[in-house]
Amino acid sequence: MSPTATHIFGPVPSRRLGLSLGIDLVPFKTCTLDCIYCELGQTATPVTERAEYVARQDLEEEIAGYFARAGRSADEKAAKLDYITLSGSGEPTLNTALPHVIALLRQKTQTPIALLTNGTLFTDPQVRREAAAADVILPSLDAVSPACFARVNRPASGLDIKKIIAGLVALRQEYRGQIWLEILFCNGLNDTPREISLLQEAAAAIKPDKIQLNTVVRPGALPEARTVSPDFLKEILPAFGPQAEIIAPFARDRDPASDPTQTVENILATLKRRPCTKKDIEEALGLKTVEVIKTIELLLAQGRIKSLEHGGEHYFQTTK
Ligand code: SF4
Repeated sequence: MSPTATHIFGPVPSRRLGLSLGIDLVPFKTCTLDCIYCELGQTATPVTERAEYVARQDLEEEIAGYFARAGRSADEKAAKLDYITLSGSGEPTLNTALPHVIALLRQKTQTPIALLTNGTLFTDPQVRREAAAADVILPSLDAVSPACFARVNRPASGLDIKKIIAGLVALRQEYRGQIWLEILFCNGLNDTPREISLLQEAAAAIKPDKIQLNTVVRPGALPEARTVSPDFLKEILPAFGPQAEIIAPFARDRDPASDPTQTVENILATLKRRPCTKKDIEEALGLKTVEVIKTIELLLAQGRIKSLEHGGEHYFQTTK
């Protein structure tokens, strides 16, 4: 990643998309929701108005610059990129530059484009049309009852979960690409028999190509975002049908990074976006264990990152 790049990050490991290069279309925590499990912390003020939260021109210049750099296509191959993912620090469909970014990426790369979204703006036919240019859309849906939606996802005022589900159903009818619906369960919140039954009905109506059951795996915005057990996910899996799966832990063999001088910057850029374990960093950046350990120790001593524990794992994130 270029030291001047601010909206392109990674590649980062993803349990759903393998190894992906991220493009962040909105400033940090610009989102329609304030999910209690959000790895990025709390949303100051959830919003629903679309705008160029990051200017189209800035995004286009950064993307063009990224692909213009000598050897970029060779770098992509070496990195074994699975996807370019529109996601990052908030809700990407809030940015009206979305269709222009997808169009430019189509010109620059053959790598499939994934859109990671909370699906709340698919109530708008224009947003559905824009999203339909992606190869795979990964919306999330964690609740169906308004009370559970309010507790888990803490939406911007005016968002109606019934209309959001109708928007997802409409997307399925209009869109020929892949839809992978994620349902994230939090212990004691959306794991009641009634909510599970409502989620099954909603998923059956949406008809996604995959239903991916997930739980809290990294520290979230609030401590009440707690993990459900693997046994719970296994138990409810069959009720979601044959297209349902439990998201498996990420694993990927990669060659070591070819440019060790970038190690500190690359680790900081990765940890700025999401908390990671040492193993995550190794896999994301293709670094040797010893390199990661030494750099983590240095960054901890400098106070540039901090460690935190979640689910018995040690995670690291930047202090800013
Ligand atoms: S988890 Fe995603 S949808 Fe929820 S608040 Fe964070 S960025 Fe927004």
